Amino acid sequence: MTRPAGPSGDEAARFARIEALLDAALDLPAEAREAFLTQACGADHALCREARSLLAAAAASEGFLETSAPSPAQSPPERMLGPWRLVRPIGRGGMGEVWLAERADGRFEQQVAIKLLHRVGGDEDARFLREQRLLARLEHPGIARLIDAGALPDGRPYMVMEYVDGTPLQVHVRALAFDQRLALFLRICEAVAFAHRHLVIHRDLKPENILVRRDGRVALLDFGIARRLDGEVNQTGDLRLTPRYAAPEQLSGDAQSTLTDVYALGLLLHELLTDRSPWGELVGAGPIALLQRARRGPPPAPSASVDSAVRARALRGDLDAIVHKALRPEPAARYASVEALAEDVRRHQAHRTVAARGDALGYRVRRLLRRYWFAAAAVTTVFIGLLVALSAISMARNEAVRERDIAQTEARRSKAVRDYLGLMFRDAGRHARDGDALTAKAVLDQAADRVVQDFSDDPVASADVLKALGELHFYIDDYAAAEPLFRRWLAQEDTIADPEAAAAVRFALAETVNRMGHGAEARALLDAAQRYWQTDPVRHADVLLTSRMLQARLQREGGDPAGALRTLEAALPQRLARSGSEHVETATLLTNLGVAYVQAGHLDQGIEVSRRALERWDRLQMGSGSEALNTLNNLAAAHYRQGDMEAAEATFARALELRRELFGPSAATAALIGNYARVVHRQGRLVEALALCAEGEIMALAHAGSVSPLTQALRVTRGEVLLALRRVDEARAALDAVFREDLSGLPATLRLRATLGMAEAARLQDDPAAAAAFDQAQALADALGTGAAEFEPRLDALRRAQ
Ligand code: ADP
Ligand code: MG
Repeated sequence: MTRPAGPSGDEAARFARIEALLDAALDLPAEAREAFLTQACGADHALCREARSLLAAAAASEGFLETSAPSPAQSPPERMLGPWRLVRPIGRGGMGEVWLAERADGRFEQQVAIKLLHRVGGDEDARFLREQRLLARLEHPGIARLIDAGALPDGRPYMVMEYVDGTPLQVHVRALAFDQRLALFLRICEAVAFAHRHLVIHRDLKPENILVRRDGRVALLDFGIARRLDGEVNQTGDLRLTPRYAAPEQLSGDAQSTLTDVYALGLLLHELLTDRSPWGELVGAGPIALLQRARRGPPPAPSASVDSAVRARALRGDLDAIVHKALRPEPAARYASVEALAEDVRRHQAHRTVAARGDALGYRVRRLLRRYWFAAAAVTTVFIGLLVALSAISMARNEAVRERDIAQTEARRSKAVRDYLGLMFRDAGRHARDGDALTAKAVLDQAADRVVQDFSDDPVASADVLKALGELHFYIDDYAAAEPLFRRWLAQEDTIADPEAAAAVRFALAETVNRMGHGAEARALLDAAQRYWQTDPVRHADVLLTSRMLQARLQREGGDPAGALRTLEAALPQRLARSGSEHVETATLLTNLGVAYVQAGHLDQGIEVSRRALERWDRLQMGSGSEALNTLNNLAAAHYRQGDMEAAEATFARALELRRELFGPSAATAALIGNYARVVHRQGRLVEALALCAEGEIMALAHAGSVSPLTQALRVTRGEVLLALRRVDEARAALDAVFREDLSGLPATLRLRATLGMAEAARLQDDPAAAAAFDQAQALADALGTGAAEFEPRLDALRRAQ
């Protein structure tokens, strides 16, 4: 047996010991093995555990060898199956044979592939029928489609599939260049991801089960051991696997998930890149050796597995890292989904940084964790709430019905929701990071539909689920989807009869509608919730305090900054008393308080409190998170308004760096670039300011569109910088672009800045239009009143030049 490369001496001795134990155990009848192991391992429980799981894998491989041993060719009893005439055999595998067939009734020409089971009865039948059922769910160009199904007179089932006229993957790729192989891999990922979205894991992904059609599209075959994520608890399907492509958890018989397919795709990618099996010397060594090796870590990097130095160089770095991450032994350390794996390959193709490499440094993960600390904590809470709700539901039903089948159905259903939600959270985090919550949203929507449907006959049972799903939508910033879920809950309020939950839902809906711009309704909902909490303020102290932040925001947005300030000032001592100074809630409150001070014009206090908030975030290891970013933004704005350009510049720079890291290009990043550009301008670093404006403007155009106030503001700033550089023609062109759009939606100060710039440009060009532009600017300034004070020097200069 080939020994895996490089275990330490101790480890090697341990492997040898385990192997000897297993050899002995396997010689015994199956029933006697467990007792033997228990006795032989004595007090070494770890050894016993490991030996036991390897034994399970070995038993599985026995099954595998049995079923995949070629059986003598059997011709079907007749050449006709229903309307199908068998033409010739095109493949054979563990379970049966595959024939090319064609429609025999002459109605139209159609070629199909028919998979026919060797024999009838037992596990095989069930598995075969399951494959049919699974395939019927999956209509995708990347998956060979199910057309028909039936059984022979002797009972052997068959299924009729779309015939894929193509080449096996391993043959097809021989002629392909590197990037073509990657493109092909991405197509395979698409098909697998599609299956996952339909709750099917394939579990037997390998080159032999993938065909490439003449037009280059791929077709996945052989869902023979595939499994639905939402049920069908069965052991039999686990026996047949392909050791060389199996993930460690498959080999050891542990829980499997979509991450099992991620692992197989990692092996496939490795093989596509190197033209050889990643496990190299271990091929043929059997599942035990493979399992031992796979558990210790990913196989040698692709770059170490090729002979050509050129090819090795191309693989080193990104592709090595991607394969490594897909092949981590612990499922949780792999890519969270096939989409995530594919996305990283695409990032590599586009020469962007891949997630897998940051991960290698441990850096990006830490940063992400910090960024998502909040969301993660919130989601976990929701998730746990959901689990409790689901198990309570199923228990209650079980008691009422006392029927085993229903109990099982319920258990499966709640597990399905759990699995599904688990998947979803990971995706939600990933997409939120990319500033694109669309896919997460799609998944959530599906989950909502399904759960609501499942529990439609029982509003009380569905209540908790509705609430949890609403909160999840809220956390991924999908307010439009969260809103109806909460409303649905409240519509059934009387039936549900849980006033405490009702207050929580009102609060959540208040947060939601406020973000959708409905301040008045938010206010009413919040009032109602707070009224309920006030009936027992001690019991509800915590949530009351938390609700003060929304209360303050509503006050501020409703034009009462002083009231907002009072609310938060009153909340701070209570929060400190409850949570102490080093607590997320305290830091959040300080952040909000800092904003309130600045907005109420108390700049010194705003700066002081924001600094304190920042310190808290740092101490909580969240100094690189989105909360710290909010605090930095506020602090920078305060410095700017105070005229302390040096401090403003340093703070904006820090905020910008953080925002780029956390969110990449986005409308909000463009806005921050614009603010930073103005500070840099004020410091006289004109060329630098110009470069920032150009970058921000392009970003704003892409993310907010040409008429948006954001894009317009960046144009105005660029015009101002160009004027300062005395590049008057260009400045005028930038400002002309502003006036070409509809200005009615712009803030008054921005309209004033644009008009002022126009007047100054015209003036420098000795354009007679300067006078009219000045009059217009003066009118706008008059309308603004004190808000126009900062523009007085520019107006004055123009006035004197008249
Ligand atoms: P098994 O479960 O026995 O491995 P598969 O579904 O993988 O069965 O089919 C065995 C072989 O038959 C495949 O490797 C492929 O060459 C061929 N085959 C299966 N389905 C099709 C199809 N729809 N179109 C063309 N060839 C097919
Ligand atoms: Mg196969």
